[in-house]
Amino acid sequence: MDDRLFRNAMGKFATGVTVITTEHDKQEHGMTANAFMSVSLEPKLVVISIGEKARCLPKIKESGIFGVNILAEDQQDYSMVFAGQKKDEVVEVTFERLAGVPVLQGAIAQISCDVVSEYVEGDHTLFIGKVRDIKLDDSKEPLLFYAGKYRSLETITV
Ligand code: FAD
Ligand code: NAD
Repeated sequence: MDDRLFRNAMGKFATGVTVITTEHDKQEHGMTANAFMSVSLEPKLVVISIGEKARCLPKIKESGIFGVNILAEDQQDYSMVFAGQKKDEVVEVTFERLAGVPVLQGAIAQISCDVVSEYVEGDHTLFIGKVRDIKLDDSKEPLLFYAGKYRSLETITV
């Protein structure tokens, strides 16, 4: 099957946008990802899917921790920076800590996790994370991704 057909079909599934954060040798690292899902309520588990070529893959494996940062609509710059799409521009990035895990300032949800399992499937690795802590910011709307483009929620007033 053609790769473009597969990507176009998967792109019909509208998602939010996250930056997965971790650290290695005391240095924070981030990567944009929309392959994120809630898995279990008891215990509280989430899953992320990381491509085999991503530089953050060995860093998550070694550190055993990751943060999921659900981006706000004013954070498209962060999404592009952490997808390697703004290499010629300097965008200031501010990390914070949540229960010892690096997270991004200004995200609408920060979720800090311990890796409890990993599964290599095709060209990606699925990491199951057990949630350590959560911090929410209800004052902003989410950034969305649909059909390969960034979007935002429209406010509907009836
Ligand atoms: P790197 O090249 O190591 O890092 C990416 C960029 O982040 C680099 O430009 C780097 O300078 C910057 N960066 C990293 N750490 C810092 C820091 N501390 N301070 C400042 N800048 C920093 N790929 C997946 O595997 N799974 C997904 O679910 C997924 N979803 C995506 C969703 C969207 C909307 C987009 C646009 C891309 C998605 N990707 C996904 C692709 C992925 O984001 C890119 O392939 C990514 O660049 C590869 O990650 P890396 O760790 O190799 O990146
Ligand atoms: P796109 O049209 O490539 O992506 C549409 C959808 O296809 C994505 O939301 C995702 O569900 C799926 N997809 C894309 N690449 C994939 C991959 N390598 N493995 C598994 N699923 C994939 O959107 P775009 O704006 O061209 O994406 C920008 C870049 O980010 C591309 O290089 C793309 O490959 C990458 N990306 C990777 C993933 C992923 O690895 N899960 C997800 C989204 C985007």
